[in-house]
Amino acid sequence: ISHRLHSNQSYVIPSPLQRVHIPDAALPDIIFEKCGKFPEKIAMECAITGRKYTYEDVRNKAINFSQAITKKLKLRKGDVVTLILPNIPEFGICILGLLKASLIVTTINPLNTLDEMRRQLVDSGSKAIITTCSLHLVVKSSAPLPNMPILTIKTEKTDSTPENVINFQDFVDTPADRNMNMYLTSSEIAVMAYSSGTTGLPKGVLHSHRNLVTHMTQTNVEEIKILEPTTDKHQDVVPAIIPFTHLYGINAVLISSLLHMSKIVTVPKFNPDVFLNLFKEHKPTALHVVPASSKRYLSVLYVIIFIFYIPVLFMINNKMVDHNLLQSLRIVTVGSAPLSSLNEEKFVRKTGNKICLMQGYGTTESNFVTFTRKSDDPTGSVGVPVPNTEMKVVAVGSDTELDHMQEGELFVKGPQIMQGYHKRSDETAKTIIDGWLKTGDLVYYDKNKKFYIVDRLKDMIKVKGYQVAPAELEDVICSYADILDAVVIGVPHDTYGEVPRAYVTVKPGTKLDVHKLEQFMVNKVSNYKYLKGGVVVVKDLPRNALGKYVRHQLRLKYMDASVTK
Ligand code: AMP
Repeated sequence: ISHRLHSNQSYVIPSPLQRVHIPDAALPDIIFEKCGKFPEKIAMECAITGRKYTYEDVRNKAINFSQAITKKLKLRKGDVVTLILPNIPEFGICILGLLKASLIVTTINPLNTLDEMRRQLVDSGSKAIITTCSLHLVVKSSAPLPNMPILTIKTEKTDSTPENVINFQDFVDTPADRNMNMYLTSSEIAVMAYSSGTTGLPKGVLHSHRNLVTHMTQTNVEEIKILEPTTDKHQDVVPAIIPFTHLYGINAVLISSLLHMSKIVTVPKFNPDVFLNLFKEHKPTALHVVPASSKRYLSVLYVIIFIFYIPVLFMINNKMVDHNLLQSLRIVTVGSAPLSSLNEEKFVRKTGNKICLMQGYGTTESNFVTFTRKSDDPTGSVGVPVPNTEMKVVAVGSDTELDHMQEGELFVKGPQIMQGYHKRSDETAKTIIDGWLKTGDLVYYDKNKKFYIVDRLKDMIKVKGYQVAPAELEDVICSYADILDAVVIGVPHDTYGEVPRAYVTVKPGTKLDVHKLEQFMVNKVSNYKYLKGGVVVVKDLPRNALGKYVRHQLRLKYMDASVTK
């Protein structure tokens, strides 16, 4: 974007919620102070093995860990450490320990392939990796440097610790020198989350401690808050199913629950039995889920066995999820993908109007920027701007700001917005324009200033809530011998929300064997990035005047061609 946005105040929509004061402190310091209030309460427990840590354990082990990792691995302030972990209780200890040591945390989904892991390890400039015993071998082969330290966590009693590894346990059990207090400032970068943003390859999104603390404070006001503070008599129980490797999982589930001293029940791998048992045993009170886009979702239960995200439609359509099972549940939040008003209503009806269903909208770059208020009726809206946040809708491809009921691109301003992309100042400048974050989402707001997401203008595809960057798939497809050029778009899918489809041109004189190309992809990219939307061979590919693909137009053309296979 070369234009400057007009600042026509009349079209800027401020939050209707009261402004909040943002504490000027670093995240672990705020959490550690809270840990002292109910030290014996359970902070994190594994839904499968029952491994658990109290708030006192979390604080002590995280502090031990912060000193041990700095000393033993000779890491310095601002160094990046990568977590390649499923949702396990130790995730919380790692993240707090690393942040306390002034290190920057980046996360990689353990479902990723070696190539994908290596790409992020190199791009982020990671100095060390933390993983589990069972993932150790895979992770070791992805490390860009042969001597990169890999800390391993034992998650099962039967795990045999691989030889010559650095044992996580030794670090958390090495008593810290309590006189040595690392001074942290709120402006330091805390997390580098990966997102493709509006275009291109995945990039490191930098969030400071202040960004994260802001987000927690904004979403904790009465009208939209999810968790209640822990008391002698009450402790919220929050299942952690959304992966902690996604910023949504870190923010909304992990950090937010620790700040409320709730009990987090971690689910390393979702399957319906674990889900049902979790409800029976732990009686959750608050649940975070992502939707999927079809009413047919999970008529076949086992389709989702390996899906980390638990779609709200699983709960709507599964007979085993009934009133009794959900009795303990007070609140459910949905985010990361669209949920229709019809499904909102169905869910509320199924739960006997007892459970409050809230929808939030955000991006990795912005954290959550809207939430529905508890008092709002289900309308499919993503709600209103959170406190201290302004939004505006701008006509696509121009700089005209729009009024209510007019569709345009959403721009957001607020103290929760990222600091920028890691090592990509040009991309940052294209994304944050005069302090406004360009979201790449097509939206409108109604006369009550409630926002609705209509479509995605940006390239990003979302499969089961996971981001897929077309540029990344196109690079892989173009490295296949027979391919001349490729464009990847997302097409609607009954089960996964969207799936990638490739439009390709082939080299003269060759005939593409699509099956072989698909096999080639299987070895290169994660399962959720497979070309489940198909491969279409075309004569040429549409480009605009700048030579760039017009992905959005291609997508609109095929919008109706929903894929069910
Ligand atoms: P991510 O950066 O992975 O969180 O993906 C952000 C994108 O997910 C947004 O730009 C939207 O396209 C989509 N998204 C997030 N929340 C919602 C929502 N409540 N409704 C519709 N789309 C959403």
